[in-house]
Amino acid sequence: YRAKQLGRNTLQHHDGASTSVGMPLGEQEELHQAITGDQLFLEYQPQVDVATGRITGIEALVRWNHPAKGRVPPVNFIPLAEETGLIVPLGLWVLNEACRQARAWQDMGLAPLTIAVNVSAKQFADPDFASHVAEALERHRLQSHWLELEVTESVVMQDAERALAMMASLRALGVRLSIDDFGSGYSSLAALKTFPFDRLKMDRSLVEALPGDKTAVAIASAVISLAQTLKLSVLAEGVETDAQMDFLRQAHCEEAQGYRFSKPVSPEAATLLLQTQSM
Ligand code: C2E
Ligand code: MG
Ligand code: MG
Ligand code: MG
Repeated sequence: YRAKQLGRNTLQHHDGASTSVGMPLGEQEELHQAITGDQLFLEYQPQVDVATGRITGIEALVRWNHPAKGRVPPVNFIPLAEETGLIVPLGLWVLNEACRQARAWQDMGLAPLTIAVNVSAKQFADPDFASHVAEALERHRLQSHWLELEVTESVVMQDAERALAMMASLRALGVRLSIDDFGSGYSSLAALKTFPFDRLKMDRSLVEALPGDKTAVAIASAVISLAQTLKLSVLAEGVETDAQMDFLRQAHCEEAQGYRFSKPVSPEAATLLLQTQSM
């Protein structure tokens, strides 16, 4: 299974030097090269149970090893991928690579854990997305409940009816759905009311000022109890300090992710983290 097969024919060539979306063709061409030419890789960041400290899940985060520029962070190419539609083959590569890695970890005898994959708007709007997910699970013999898809509110709010139908198809497969960056936007509450998520990921901006800032404490506490009331599991993003952990424990936040435990790391380093925990 190769990214090459996915990336083919996705690039629209124009006569001029720029694309229909006004991007320099060079950049788009380079990104296309990245997808088809093995320049992308994944790093993994553990998600831990706040009460026990055990790793319960791991988020896959894409990176681009550019031949000239070196390491490019996702903020510098995901928006371009979105605008050009290259996010579809890129996202498909990420999905398959993450499922492949999850299968490899299970085959090594490590305790099974949830693998979380970020999904962007164009991917979620692709009518074939649910079948791509089903194919990836089947190809890598991964039970669906080990896969979690992370979407932000803007992904589902764009076309609510279509998003609801997509979520129903994904839930029918048995994959888990989480709302990412909760609290960073404007319509988070509307998104929760309308869409059947399994998990809420509280944005780093709400966690940052904990526990010193009273307003931050009030908001984070409210978000955690909101999640509990709606029967969603809740994870705090961007946890960096022991003091934040103490607060989250007292507030009964179930899971946490952040530099306090590990930054996103290579597959090899992630394997070591998981092996250490299994001993
Ligand atoms: P996200 O999904 O909200 O991922 C969390 C981001 O916060 C990651 O940045 C991670 O490295 C960073 N982070 C984690 N813990 C901490 C912490 O304790 N402190 C601080 N300061 N930062 C922390 P990264 O890897 O640069 O990714 C940025 C965003 O790019 C992601 O935000 C996600 O929206 C997007 N992204 C990454 N990989 C993919 C992908 O495969 N597909 C799509 N569609 N988007 C992706
Ligand atoms: Mg995420
Ligand atoms: Mg996030
Ligand atoms: Mg984010």
